[in-house]
Amino acid sequence: MTRAYNFSAGPAALPQPVLEQAAAEMLDWHGSGMSVMEMSHRGREFTSIYERAEADVRELLAVPANFRILFMQGGGLGENAIAPMNLSRGGKVDFVVTGSWSQKSHKEAGRYCDTQVAASNEADRHTSMPAPQAWKLRSGLAYVHVCSNETIHGVEFQTLPDLKALGCDAPLVVDCSSHILSRTIDWSRVGMAFAGAQKNIGPAGVTLVFVRDDLLGHALPICPSAFDYKTVADNQSMYNTPPTYGIYIAGLVFQWIKREGGVAEMERRAIERSQMLYDCIDTSGFYVNRVAREARSRMNVPFFLPDDALNEPFLAGARERRLLQLKGHKSVGGMRASIYNAMPISGVQALVDYMREFAARHG
Ligand SMILES: *Cc1c(COP(=O)(O)O)cnc(C)c1O
Repeated sequence: MTRAYNFSAGPAALPQPVLEQAAAEMLDWHGSGMSVMEMSHRGREFTSIYERAEADVRELLAVPANFRILFMQGGGLGENAIAPMNLSRGGKVDFVVTGSWSQKSHKEAGRYCDTQVAASNEADRHTSMPAPQAWKLRSGLAYVHVCSNETIHGVEFQTLPDLKALGCDAPLVVDCSSHILSRTIDWSRVGMAFAGAQKNIGPAGVTLVFVRDDLLGHALPICPSAFDYKTVADNQSMYNTPPTYGIYIAGLVFQWIKREGGVAEMERRAIERSQMLYDCIDTSGFYVNRVAREARSRMNVPFFLPDDALNEPFLAGARERRLLQLKGHKSVGGMRASIYNAMPISGVQALVDYMREFAARHG
């Protein structure tokens, strides 16, 4: 068996030691005689798995005590509705649109509250980061939404905006699905953050929500009870059956990150991987990445070949070398390499070696 280098945007590669441990524990978890999939979510065994996962992610991201951590379902797109149902109070919410994901969030929230786009990079096709000083935030907002890493366009906030410094006292809501655990989070700037698991946490089906205590308890009457943050928080994410196996794998990923050196080490590796790839693109005279340097994502790197006719040969050659899922998102075209926490530097090295070879042959 040889594992390929998998550059999928999500569901994405998981650390091999996590998959090996899950395989070894599949039939009999720690002498319980059961697979984790077969356990009661309220039993002693699963409770210990859940509590450790929560404590580990709280430690890894230094989540303050006044934030609740919820393990929910519904994914990032579910949160596009669940967040406004819980936090908008039917009032005004402003969106910073930096790519497809924040655009979707804006559109969905319009069903539940009064929305406005405070800033957008649409004019340059989502290749820059609108400067916070220029955001046109309204007064009396219930919250402000940003997507801190745009998975499709490869645009990332290098620091979260400080809304207070902009004269706005509304909480910031952050969709950090595609770069969570690759860098620290400044919680003093955040009211709520959410992340679908399938990029940097674990299998699809788990959504992590971090929500400040004082924002709980204001859900709209139409909000399903199972998606009311207060109900979920009051029941330790067990109001209904949580995605138990996904939580278990997420917990193994958290343990793996701790063993490897924590979020600081994940960040160091993300910088190393992304620099290697951007350097290859920028010095090639062949490949192009159109994102402004200061806005470039460390996790998702879209790039283009000089002629679309080369796309298929490039992908075929990549597949031969076991470099998988490099095709760009259909809305952007070209290629995209997603290089999340589980991607070893050897995978990026193999990719840039191939890219240089391909450019030499076709340049
Ligand atoms: C992948 C992704 C989502 C996806 O949400 P799902 O509902 O789980 O498909 C949302 N936001 C961002 C930024 C993402 O990268």
